[in-house]
Amino acid sequence: MLKSLLCALRGHRINRNRVRHNGLEFSTRCRCCKAQLVRMPEGWREADEAAPAHA
Ligand SMILES: [Zn+2]
Repeated sequence: MLKSLLCALRGHRINRNRVRHNGLEFSTRCRCCKAQLVRMPEGWREADEAAPAHA
């Protein structure tokens, strides 16, 4: 997925109205570039779509 330059510079824009919990973690999408984001203890980060799910 093509990333927004703004996101690269300032970070993704969390859509807090659409945060979901999938039973394991919170996830949402960036309002700017639609990237899938997951909530980590240190903050939101982009989901690694290429990585396999945790066993
Ligand atoms: Zn973004």
